[in-house]
Amino acid sequence: MFGSLRRRLSRSTPAFDPSWRLLLTQRFRHWSWLTPTELARMERLVADFVATTRWEAARGFRLTEEIEVLIAAQASLLLLGLDLDGYPDVTSVIVHPSTVRLHGAHPTGGGVFSSAPRVLAGQAHYQGPVVLSWADTRRGAEYPTAGHNVVYHEFAHRLDMLDGITDGTPPLDDEVARQRWVEVCTAAYDTVRAEGSPVLRPYAGTNPAEFFAVATEVFFNRAQSLRTHEPALYRELRAFYGQDPAARWPSEGP
Ligand SMILES: [Zn+2]
Repeated sequence: MFGSLRRRLSRSTPAFDPSWRLLLTQRFRHWSWLTPTELARMERLVADFVATTRWEAARGFRLTEEIEVLIAAQASLLLLGLDLDGYPDVTSVIVHPSTVRLHGAHPTGGGVFSSAPRVLAGQAHYQGPVVLSWADTRRGAEYPTAGHNVVYHEFAHRLDMLDGITDGTPPLDDEVARQRWVEVCTAAYDTVRAEGSPVLRPYAGTNPAEFFAVATEVFFNRAQSLRTHEPALYRELRAFYGQDPAARWPSEGP
């Protein structure tokens, strides 16, 4: 699926520090729901991500091992079932203590643009850095049922960007899979824009790229609700990510 983009773990991948297990069990809810086989792959991915990423802190902020490991684990969860061991072209991960205030025109959905300052929990730049708010990163790891996860969101954008076009369609196996993906996502996207959704927040209707990023957050964080309300979309995401999070979730209610 990823062809030449595929990034492999090297033999020299540093070992996963066993002390991170307790941290991840306590602070990253999803960690406890993984099978031993999944955990073994996750540990290699996390160790590699921590070691090979260029980490940067926003001015006045200080990075700790906890911050790096929690970001690495959430970013790695998206890779767990993919034929990909890392994110190509991420020049650095820049961590801010909390949300970032930006100025300039930006889309607010439905073709509407606003020039009001906006507050962002994260940002993914094509072949550049990924920017994250630590407050949101920590909350997303600890309280998945809220549905939001800035790390899943921004790294979903990075997967989408791998084919050079940020259009809500990541690299897929073949043309048949691509056509089915576009059909299912377009139908769900049109519905969000026209009438909203019980699981996908309105921001998903901003454009197809944001739709994929928000759908990814919900796929991992409100898996059973997404499977109930958007079964076709859930199936596409399950096929792409090679994971079935609804099956591993404890019951989350409607
Ligand atoms: Zn986004």
